[in-house]
Amino acid sequence: MSLMFSGIGVSRGLAIGEIHVLRRDGLDVEARTLEKKELAEEVRRLKKALKTARTQLRATKDSIPKDAPSDVSAFIDSHLLMLDDKALSQTPIDIIKAEQLNAEAALKQQQQALVSVFEAMDDTYIATRVDDVNQVIALILQALSGGADPFTDPEAWKGRIVVADDLTPADTIIMQNHGVAGFVTEQGGQLSHTAILARSLGIPAVVGLHSVRKYLRNGETVTLNGNSGLLVAEPTDEHLVDIKLRQKEARKAARELSSLIDKDSVTLDGTPLQLWANIEMDDDVKALKRVNAAGVGLYRTEFLYMNRTSAPSEQDHYKEYTKILRTLKGAPLTIRTVDLGADKLTDSQSNAGPLAHNPAMGLRGIRLALADLSLFVPQLRAILRTSAKGPVRLLIPMLTNLAELAQVKALIEEVKVALDEEGLAYDPDIPIGGMIEIPAAAIAVRAFANELDFLSIGTNDLIQYTLAIDRIDDQVHYLYDPIHPAMLQLIEMIIKAGKEANIPVTLCGEMAGDPTYVRVLLGLGLTEFSMPPKLLLAVKQELIQSKISRLRPLAQRLIQAADADAQQHLLGLMNKPAEKTAGKASRKAKNKPRQRKNKF
Ligand code: PEP
Ligand code: MG
Repeated sequence: MSLMFSGIGVSRGLAIGEIHVLRRDGLDVEARTLEKKELAEEVRRLKKALKTARTQLRATKDSIPKDAPSDVSAFIDSHLLMLDDKALSQTPIDIIKAEQLNAEAALKQQQQALVSVFEAMDDTYIATRVDDVNQVIALILQALSGGADPFTDPEAWKGRIVVADDLTPADTIIMQNHGVAGFVTEQGGQLSHTAILARSLGIPAVVGLHSVRKYLRNGETVTLNGNSGLLVAEPTDEHLVDIKLRQKEARKAARELSSLIDKDSVTLDGTPLQLWANIEMDDDVKALKRVNAAGVGLYRTEFLYMNRTSAPSEQDHYKEYTKILRTLKGAPLTIRTVDLGADKLTDSQSNAGPLAHNPAMGLRGIRLALADLSLFVPQLRAILRTSAKGPVRLLIPMLTNLAELAQVKALIEEVKVALDEEGLAYDPDIPIGGMIEIPAAAIAVRAFANELDFLSIGTNDLIQYTLAIDRIDDQVHYLYDPIHPAMLQLIEMIIKAGKEANIPVTLCGEMAGDPTYVRVLLGLGLTEFSMPPKLLLAVKQELIQSKISRLRPLAQRLIQAADADAQQHLLGLMNKPAEKTAGKASRKAKNKPRQRKNKF
């Protein structure tokens, strides 16, 4: 009989392969009290392990293929930086000496201290840095145990489904290089670095399968579904045939999708659509160009503040923004100002005060930016200066009230005056938009719409705050419901307010990239969608085969849906294949004379 394990699918795709279970030795450690005369030797042992870990990381960095995204080596650099940080290179030594403990126990003690600091941080992205701390410490423990690095034989992974406690981004990229079919981790969330990379590399992946390694044997065949999050062990012949068939269909569908690249983004009843890309790093712009996106609807700038020991300077920002703008060749770039939580990247910030009890509701997004102008003003100056070079829009995250917006606008005016005095150019009419992602801002959206040039709906946070579910807590993932009537009403209110104020409204949360929900959004009146470039063509396929006149009444019925069955029924009607004539679309596209490959 088959065994099924259900986790969180973080990277879509289906895989069949033999399991390769990774177990890192040396993670369970025993605390030993040492005699005073043993302490010097213990410190030497730890220093040697740190050196070994450093050498291993450098070797990993050297083996990264040249065409890998540049952030991969940046991730390894951040691990190297962590190794050199006093928190790992000195504090455990102090603990050995002060508490007469063995090196492993001292490291574990420091790990617990660091993890609790990171976990209490205010930003979901930074909270995922816990993974990095754990991974770096695992590497040192590995070296202390004298055991071989389990990642030195990647050949063993070819065509396999790797199952591990956790994986580093570097492991992920090397695994892809060696043809891994997919991977599963016991730890990790939707926003971990590894999950982000798996998505951008297209490796099917499932995370959060707690203790799964207990039930799996090396070499046994399993199937992995990165869409549903399901791992099936001891699959039946029927199940294997079914998965193979679906893999074949998926390959065919991907080929058909590429025929949509040059097609106009317009619905069957003639409404033009704007399909934007979400980007996080300059490398993402290449993917955006491949699918002919309208431009960047959301540039998350948090990566600029990561993997470094101090906040980025105005020049760091400016260099990155102008580089991206140049590559966009005239398409608009929407730069979101920093959306960090309680920032711990510089010493002054890490000593800034007590940690929030409820970080998601603490000093994050625009609240933090306004509380720490040294973080914010260099970014504002760089965004304004970039606006002199091409179409740039400025987007403010996490707005709660109009006073915050007034403060940001006043600050922008001050920056403009300063730039005038310095003779530096900027676009005086740079559009200023606001993320509507807090229920209070959604309910009071008319007032915001009157003060802004565009609105952007952040459904990731709007869902988190409206449904009261932490977006990175897999225990409440079952409550995640983007079409909850409350969500649909809020989204509709925001779209209407934008129309009344005659300003554009984009939706840039994950929902805009999910083909299951995009017709619902279209039915609610949305025409601008921003999503990861990899998802753009699948979304386009749904939207250009839709009639708004048919979806509008169905969306109203969905808002009134009494229960989950009614919801699913209506969703089925909205997504009904009658409008999904992808075959026709691709045939038409084939007959059409070939246009420019993309508009950049
Ligand atoms: C959102 O909240 O929907 C959003 C797009 O922003 P982020 O995921 O970066 O918080
Ligand atoms: Mg958000």
